[in-house]
Amino acid sequence: MAKTIDHWIDGAAFAGTSGNLVDVTDPATGEVTAQLALASPAEVDMAVGAATAAFGRWRDTSLTKRTQVMFAFRELLNDRKDELAAIITSEHGKVLSDALGEVSRGQEVVEFACGMPHLLKGAFTENASTGIDVHSVRQPLGPVAVISPFNFPAMVPMWFFPIAIAAGNTVVLKPSEKVPSAALWMAELWKEAGLPDGVFNVLNGDKVAVDGLLTHPDIASVSFVGSTPIARYVYETGTTHGKRVQALGGAKNHMLVLPDADLDLAADQAINAGFGSAGERCMAISAVVAVGDIADDLVTKIAERADKLRTGDGRRGCDMGPLVTAQSRDRVTGYIDAGESAGAKLVVDGRSVTPDADGSGFFVGPTLFDNVTVQMSIYTDEIFGPVLSVLRVDTYEEGVEIINSNPYGNGTAIFTNDGGAARRFGNEVQVGMIGINVPVPVPMAYFSFGGWKSSLFGDAHAHGTEGVKFFTHGKVVTSRWLDPSHGGINLGFPQNQ
Ligand code: NAD
Repeated sequence: MAKTIDHWIDGAAFAGTSGNLVDVTDPATGEVTAQLALASPAEVDMAVGAATAAFGRWRDTSLTKRTQVMFAFRELLNDRKDELAAIITSEHGKVLSDALGEVSRGQEVVEFACGMPHLLKGAFTENASTGIDVHSVRQPLGPVAVISPFNFPAMVPMWFFPIAIAAGNTVVLKPSEKVPSAALWMAELWKEAGLPDGVFNVLNGDKVAVDGLLTHPDIASVSFVGSTPIARYVYETGTTHGKRVQALGGAKNHMLVLPDADLDLAADQAINAGFGSAGERCMAISAVVAVGDIADDLVTKIAERADKLRTGDGRRGCDMGPLVTAQSRDRVTGYIDAGESAGAKLVVDGRSVTPDADGSGFFVGPTLFDNVTVQMSIYTDEIFGPVLSVLRVDTYEEGVEIINSNPYGNGTAIFTNDGGAARRFGNEVQVGMIGINVPVPVPMAYFSFGGWKSSLFGDAHAHGTEGVKFFTHGKVVTSRWLDPSHGGINLGFPQNQ
């Protein structure tokens, strides 16, 4: 019988009692590896209760001690990241090197959060008014919720919780029910690093758990990452219940290739960004916009490379793994059918792939469409699979118009050797993260990650200084130490003297 995966509440595994179990599968084999107990409203209360009870003491723990725990967590993670990568591959399906890559990008946020004493430093002004000093501080919010998607079981939670914890908050993480084990592994690591019980909790669940967190009076903020409709819902519900919310949504990322670009480089990068993680990345390139008469050459070069990719079990050194579930696979093949019916030219067909894997995993091979138009569903919808669409335009302006008309604004890239064109693109494209000859421009931990338009609801991007601001309240203290010469009554509005 498959094992059951628990919650992690108040520093220990807690076997769920809801009786509401869902299967967790190994996408490369199709095998059910575990059953996950989805949280009931009472279990949401337990997890939030643990985070609430732990908050006062953790908030008042000195920065030095909090930072020591952060460094210990970083060291353990660095030493044992192979274990975490293997867990990610077994539930998500991405190839091991890719899983290791996501752990490393998450680790960078832990490293950034190790600098929290500096990041929390306020300002001090002496003698702002005669005998009056002013200083500012930033203080933690309280228990915060992090709700994450399936596609980055370690990195996306790590965009948030290292900063939240280092700043003195306590956390309830609700991972995706498709990939729960990475969060539990990280919870055990926190314990080993010396984090007090209750500061980091993992609540497994679905909409019931999400709604419980969004409406719970003790949850101060919600950091959500997932598809756009749910992100919008989370933002609206969370803010209605008085919470600070950052909700990162879906994407449709374009790669604009100008006629002067190095086409081999562009084709390599289209492959990496289109088919890495089987296209299940919010920063994946799904639309290549070819400008001018390079389109035929570019399509040929991408197709040659796509044909050579090895699809299969991520533990076997393959280039590309499976989709996360059978439903995801069927959704993606449905889009390929729709693209064909709509008249796009199917250059490489991933439906007929023979994967290097045992069992019956959820595979679709790399797929390439040419002559795609902006009306087709393979262009308008976020497919979230290994399907790359090539759109042909005559001019740079037409390409930018397509990108700026798209409702999403997460990432985009331009491929060119013309510095002026690249600079102009960076200036006028309405997207949050831009690559210049870089296809997946995920910002470093000390910058902030976030898209525009339907790719993000709320004001704060993830990590970097915006993350520190999100997880703290600002406070300004104006002080005067008694000096009899400044006494007296004055009902006027305070002014500088
Ligand atoms: P999803 O929206 O299905 O799920 C995200 C989270 O919401 C999960 O924890 C899930 O349990 C929960 N959820 C699902 N349905 C819900 C409902 N009806 N009510 C409340 N909560 C619900 O997303 P996913 O399929 O796990 O992840 C893929 C999506 O995430 C893609 O759209 C991708 O672009 C997006 N994503 C965006 C970013 C970004 O930075 N913008 C990063 C990674 C993933």
